[in-house]
Amino acid sequence: MIQATFETDWDYWNSLHADAPRYQAEKERVAAEVLARLEAHYPGLAAQVEVTDVVTPYTTWRYTLNRRGAYEGWLPTPEVITTTIPRTLPGLADFYMAGQWVIPGGGVPTCLNSGRDVVRILCRRDGRPFVTSRPR
Ligand SMILES: Cc1cc2nc3c(=O)[nH]c(=O)nc-3n(C[C@H](O)[C@H](O)[C@H](O)COP(=O)(O)OP(=O)(O)OC[C@H]3O[C@@H](n4cnc5c(N)ncnc54)[C@H](O)[C@@H]3O)c2cc1C
Repeated sequence: MIQATFETDWDYWNSLHADAPRYQAEKERVAAEVLARLEAHYPGLAAQVEVTDVVTPYTTWRYTLNRRGAYEGWLPTPEVITTTIPRTLPGLADFYMAGQWVIPGGGVPTCLNSGRDVVRILCRRDGRPFVTSRPR
């Protein structure tokens, strides 16, 4: 399997999506161009392709509802990386947040850690020790 990832623009794909045939044609054009460029490095590759799947920011939005099709949370700039994002919302009792929007950068490992953080917060709230055990 080969995965090719590129920076691209939400507004472009989001508005293009309104025109289904053009959206589809553009995805096919991008796939063909990527394959042509890879072919230069791996001669014969194009003849071996069985399946191609093109994902746009619109696709990510459709599956996750992430703002503007973001594939991770906040961009980890020096300013953001040192910021602690609250896990609760004022006026909303018993509500705790976990996931890529409460940890700069996001990604699966940090999201898992943010779930652990919420358990720690709950333990502290309930006066219980936070303990972990290894799965057997
Ligand atoms: C193409 C791609 C490749 C990636 N590769 C990697 C990688 O290699 N390594 C890595 O660590 N991370 C990777 N990531 C990032 C990682 O997938 C995310 O950071 C992580 O999944 C975010 O977890 P989350 O629980 O915060 O949100 P999500 O996994 O987005 O879960 C949010 C869930 O909430 C649901 N939802 C949204 N709004 C509502 C609503 N109003 N009502 C009900 N449900 C709702 C969504 O449908 C979704 O199921 C990748 C992401 C993408 C898109």
